[in-house]
Amino acid sequence: MTFSCDEEFAQQLDAEDPLRSFRDRFHLPLGNNGEPLIYFAGNSLGLMPKSARTIVEQELDDWAKLGVDAHLAGKTPWYSYHETLGEPIARVVGAQPNEVICMNSLTVNLHLMMATFYRPTKSRFKILMEEPAFPSDTYAIKTQITHHGLSAKEALILVRPRSGEFTVRTEEILDLIERHADELAVVLIGGVNFFTGQWFDIPTITAAAQKRGITAGVDLAHAIGNVPLMLHDWNVDFAVWCSYKYLNAGPGAVAGAFVHERHATNINLPRLAGWFGNDPNTRFRLHLEPEFIPVASADGWQISNPPILSMAPLRASLAIFEQAGGMESLRKRSIKLTSYLQFLLEDRGAGKRFNIITPREANERGCQLSIQAQEHPKELFEKLEAAGVKCDFREPNVIRAAPTPLYNTFHEVWRFANILR
Ligand SMILES: *Cc1c(COP(=O)(O)O)cnc(C)c1O
Repeated sequence: MTFSCDEEFAQQLDAEDPLRSFRDRFHLPLGNNGEPLIYFAGNSLGLMPKSARTIVEQELDDWAKLGVDAHLAGKTPWYSYHETLGEPIARVVGAQPNEVICMNSLTVNLHLMMATFYRPTKSRFKILMEEPAFPSDTYAIKTQITHHGLSAKEALILVRPRSGEFTVRTEEILDLIERHADELAVVLIGGVNFFTGQWFDIPTITAAAQKRGITAGVDLAHAIGNVPLMLHDWNVDFAVWCSYKYLNAGPGAVAGAFVHERHATNINLPRLAGWFGNDPNTRFRLHLEPEFIPVASADGWQISNPPILSMAPLRASLAIFEQAGGMESLRKRSIKLTSYLQFLLEDRGAGKRFNIITPREANERGCQLSIQAQEHPKELFEKLEAAGVKCDFREPNVIRAAPTPLYNTFHEVWRFANILR
């Protein structure tokens, strides 16, 4: 599609947009002038669906009126509440409902997955991940290694962008997999890198790792709700995500995990267990049958009873994803929004005072563009904020701007580019 720099062009795109009404389903934070901020921070905390309040109030009402009985007699019984999320979340990540479970928080789920899938032996004990990875992932992985009595120095392999480049080449990852093929236990890649916005070639990396007997896991924090995923068909071994970024499920919302069917149905896999991972038929007979019998699905990794008040907004948010036609429909709009932003930024001086470190090709990125400022990056960011833009700053000089397809407009993209100039 050919874009134009005219303001009327942006307004025209909005007028013709079949998904434009979805913006009305969200609360838009206002700036000092009482106008909505240009909210490009959905990669950090997605906006609140208006329906979130109603659904949370429903749970509060059930608690108030029914007390403990709401576990079975609530409008959506709490006892099996997590099951209502299985199908919608499976559609978002391209999985079968028996392969996904909403639970805990992202980093906790990463530890739980590693407890199952990182079983280092004398010869196979290394983990490959990308750099820069999100600090929490690095902490988790390093402590997984030391937890097994190994040294992160020897066991952790980092794949970095080549000098002078910002993103990691797939061939670089494949090359490291080959070079350490007999020593690698796990390859863990961020689906979309939090810093550069690079979308990794998950199926190619997964296949290359598995060909060498290595487990392939992905952290989908910046990928879920942003790019289309097909975890089952890509044959990924495990994945984890959070729900407060592009999934708009609210601060600290319940996170999730994917375990491929071939593992999820294997009740003999080692894991860290709790009562809600146990077969519901024997769950309450723990005093009689102290043996843990996992559910033969991803539910078998669940530890505790579901956090209803953090799950409720996720149900509201996933309903909106479905009404918008799912990831396929949203991705189409997202490519258009971000390509338009890229076009405008290139027209407004990218390469001179700032440059975009996110890959140019739509199939190598999600909605975020990471803009590296040449001079006075912090001042530039502060000026953006003062002009009513909400995006974020990553040291030393990167501004991340993420126009999301559910609630941002083409005119906001146009205004952002104009303000930046
Ligand atoms: C946002 C993010 C996290 C956050 O972890 P929590 O456990 O949800 O606090 C972790 N990893 C990545 C890659 C992220 O982008």
